[in-house]
Amino acid sequence: MSYLDRSKEVQEDVVKWRRALHQIPEVGLDLQQTSTYIMQQLDEMGIPYRKNVGVSGIVGLIEGGSPGKTIALRADMDGLPIVEETGLSFASENGNMHACGHDAHSAILLGVAKVLNGEKENLKGNIKLIFQPAEEGPGGAKPMLDDGAFENPKVDGVLGLHIGGLTGDSKDGEVLVSYGSMMACLDRFKMTIRGKGCHGAYPENGVDPISIASQVIANVQTIISREVSPTDPGVITFGMIKGGSQYNIISDTVELEGTCRAVDQDVREYLAKRLEEISRSVAEGMRGSIEFDYTFGYPPLVNNEDVTKYFVESAKKLIPEEDIKEMKKPVMGGEDMAYFINEVPGTYIFLSSHEPVDGALYPHHNSKFNINEDIMQRGVALIAQAATDWLQR
Ligand SMILES: [Zn+2]
Ligand SMILES: [Zn+2]
Repeated sequence: MSYLDRSKEVQEDVVKWRRALHQIPEVGLDLQQTSTYIMQQLDEMGIPYRKNVGVSGIVGLIEGGSPGKTIALRADMDGLPIVEETGLSFASENGNMHACGHDAHSAILLGVAKVLNGEKENLKGNIKLIFQPAEEGPGGAKPMLDDGAFENPKVDGVLGLHIGGLTGDSKDGEVLVSYGSMMACLDRFKMTIRGKGCHGAYPENGVDPISIASQVIANVQTIISREVSPTDPGVITFGMIKGGSQYNIISDTVELEGTCRAVDQDVREYLAKRLEEISRSVAEGMRGSIEFDYTFGYPPLVNNEDVTKYFVESAKKLIPEEDIKEMKKPVMGGEDMAYFINEVPGTYIFLSSHEPVDGALYPHHNSKFNINEDIMQRGVALIAQAATDWLQR
């Protein structure tokens, strides 16, 4: 029986799991209800697992009939602090929402687990099922790796998918692959610019941190426009600016916060370095001072070319070739799947799936976001097939 047929057989379960998870979204690292629900399903299938990996992650293990390599299949299981407004019969009422489709990712991985567990005698090697918390922050992949998720047995490759409409224009069921840089890093910076407060009518008596901040903001954009190649994507965004207390007072300090994105590690490190250098020299050149803090978050997600090629070969066995598209350019969002792919060769794919709410489509992280559940079985078949084929190689 083909994996398409097997995925059809488990589709009813996958929908049931997705809806159950959709009703109990939790945020962050400690996903008690969600992980308990997933463990119950693994118990029912008789699949052994390690729990509380990196707080509330789960690592299931399916051992194949003959020895071989180990491939990890990863799903994130966290929601967002958004009040759901879809009006769906299974909508969340706890104040959080699965507004990114991670409920579907976990349900799909449970579907894959069920299919592959039924085939395990024919598998060469092992399947590791990785259910991770906190993809939406503060990050669950790294704590799981630090807690040995990829050890015993050691993992040799990793696959994962994201459902929904992250790339804009794509038809339901289409698979978007990338042979290299796919998503950006997710870094954060904070600066406090110090001047010297005084009366707004006598600027000569102080040092104005607001005029320094405005120069900093304008100047650092030249890192992107003048110092990095136009063909290397990079973003510097100031998302917060705080300063001043009165219209006629020059304040002591201004606080700025923002994010840097790049899809290449070297570009990323360059942005971080030059952001500090330029900000510092502008602040000091204007008689102020600066405290600068840069946090390297999720790294850029760069797929392994060979694993991606293997994935595409496997996918062609199941779905029409025109449904497999190569991404023309990376997206500037971040994903902590990057930590797993940095550890072992792997690939991440986008699976398009949209479902209108009140007659309109809504983006990820919107209170009316939804997915087309029919597409989930395609996700199950694709991952099961790719994992099986990869182990055979
Ligand atoms: Zn998201
Ligand atoms: Zn997501």
